[in-house]
Amino acid sequence: MVEFCPKCEALLIPIKDKGKTYLVCRLCGYRKEIRSSEGYKSVLKVSEEKRSKITVMEETREISREDRERAKELMQEYYEVFLETMETEEQQEVSD
Ligand SMILES: [Zn+2]
Repeated sequence: MVEFCPKCEALLIPIKDKGKTYLVCRLCGYRKEIRSSEGYKSVLKVSEEKRSKITVMEETREISREDRERAKELMQEYYEVFLETMETEEQQEVSD
């Protein structure tokens, strides 16, 4: 679900522009349109649970090795939370 820039491997950030959703690289400007949001919606359903796990990880700090991998996972979690926020905004716009 989470995608990274094919050019510089940075995390692609979802943005909305003129009713469409894009994944954008903030480092090099790479942009990719998301044609269907169905896959992302399914991810959002579990984001709440995953967020709890992040909190536990932050408190216990049991995972001290493979820091790079852990950081990458955390970025993915934040990414999903970001999508959830975006989804909420979208629903509010529709109901208007
Ligand atoms: Zn890039």
